[in-house]
Amino acid sequence: MTNPLFDALVAPLATRRDAVLFDANGTGVSGTALYDRAMRLASALSGLGLVPGDRLAVQIEKSPEALALYLGALAAGVVFLPLNTAYTPDEVDYFVGNSGAMLLVADPARAEALAQVAARHGTQLRTMDGAGKGTLPDLADQAHASLPVDRTPDDLAAILYTSGTTGRSKGAMLSQSNLLSNAEVLVREWRFTKDDVLLHALPIFHTHGLFVATNVVLLSGGRMIFLPGFKLDQVIDLLPRATTMMGVPTFYTRLLDDSRFDRDLVGHMRLFTSGSAPLLAETHRQFEDRTGHRILERYGMTETNMTTSNPYGGERRAGTVGFPLPDIELKITDPANGATLPDGQPGMIEVRGPNVFQGYWQMPEKTREELRENGFFITGDIGVIDAEGYVSIVGRQKDLIITGGFNVYPKEIELILDEQPGVLESAVIGVPHPDFGEGVVAVLIPTPDSAPDVAAIKATLAQSLARFKQPKHIAILPELPRNTMGKVQKNLLRKKLEALFV
Ligand code: ATP
Ligand code: MG
Repeated sequence: MTNPLFDALVAPLATRRDAVLFDANGTGVSGTALYDRAMRLASALSGLGLVPGDRLAVQIEKSPEALALYLGALAAGVVFLPLNTAYTPDEVDYFVGNSGAMLLVADPARAEALAQVAARHGTQLRTMDGAGKGTLPDLADQAHASLPVDRTPDDLAAILYTSGTTGRSKGAMLSQSNLLSNAEVLVREWRFTKDDVLLHALPIFHTHGLFVATNVVLLSGGRMIFLPGFKLDQVIDLLPRATTMMGVPTFYTRLLDDSRFDRDLVGHMRLFTSGSAPLLAETHRQFEDRTGHRILERYGMTETNMTTSNPYGGERRAGTVGFPLPDIELKITDPANGATLPDGQPGMIEVRGPNVFQGYWQMPEKTREELRENGFFITGDIGVIDAEGYVSIVGRQKDLIITGGFNVYPKEIELILDEQPGVLESAVIGVPHPDFGEGVVAVLIPTPDSAPDVAAIKATLAQSLARFKQPKHIAILPELPRNTMGKVQKNLLRKKLEALFV
């Protein structure tokens, strides 16, 4: 009997009497207890009629019980489908309908609002709250621990919907071996061992917190301080007990804003990683100045898990996402015809390897557009490889601005703007323009204590950028719209400023 992902991640818990998860107070959940909950939840799923291959949609708060449900789904061969807790019932309606989920597990506070959604799609509804209580855990309490079902490496383990940054979320079908191969590579590359304690403050409905963080820790036999979310004071209190932390860039900027975050606090730490959104080179430098640590930035996405990483041992270079991971091929191609471009030239990032997903659930056309027959996935990200092989992300193809027939990569302008006095950060977008098709617009976020001098910035840009790249308008906003993963939502900015020139 085999179930590769279960055997690698869950089975070892059965004999771990030590704590695997800790909460903020230091109270632990042992491996055996987590295993027992996973197997009882697996049994509860089967009791509700779910068979291997059925989809289980969950929109629940992060808790040990929620993690046990993911592990239980692996045991039962049920396809796990976690949803962002911020999604409204209307949004959940789309995911449940699109996935044909057999069961939806939701927070009791939303059960009423979601009852109609479930009824509309013939989906069963059960609850689980942030303390791990509800009608599904109740069923598990009464169930006998089940045995894991057989699975092959090609069977689906999860359908994870993309974040919807560039359009409607798509369900990425991830097989057992997609997830396992990536966890194995990351454990080796980032040198995770049973002695690691990961400070886990990421959500577990997204690839970063669920697969990168928890799969890596479970596979390496390590432990996690498992927090419901990122709270600055709590994280500062708990860092002394951790050896590693995985974060999105906003975690690090928030830590750097606090004077308690210093060398002494994190001198014992082994590793900080960053991803899901670009880490400013400036943040990387500030972090090193303050703590002596160089953040290890990596790059990945829902469809591929992690694809590149800065080296653990070698130079972690600010502003880059490092090298392709072992067994993963990465090339830069001409978006117009797919031809491979020479190093140094920006183009479409394409990726192939055991990590690349099986296609988009029920979207054969989208799958055909983005997944080539030869196995390369067209990521939609524009990148460039330098002479030493470091990959940098230039931006998303959908954010590329075409003005008067010229291509403008926002990142090139943002990098200059971010350096200007009084500018905390920036975003450059294209909005409809009657003469140029799109007009370049810069949005500046001022630093708390001073305001940017727009005339001086315009003069600087005029010196360093070709005329067509220079913003036709500079707007100042209090902050950039971001989703829960810290991704800047340029679509919202474009919408806000769409009438600027027309
Ligand atoms: P959608 O595909 O629905 O528009 P999304 O691409 O934001 O949403 P995710 O799969 O969560 O959904 O995010 C993957 C994307 O995040 C990558 O394609 C890339 O644009 C961005 N990303 C991830 N890591 C990094 C990084 N280190 N630097 C820059 N961008 C990153
Ligand atoms: Mg995407």
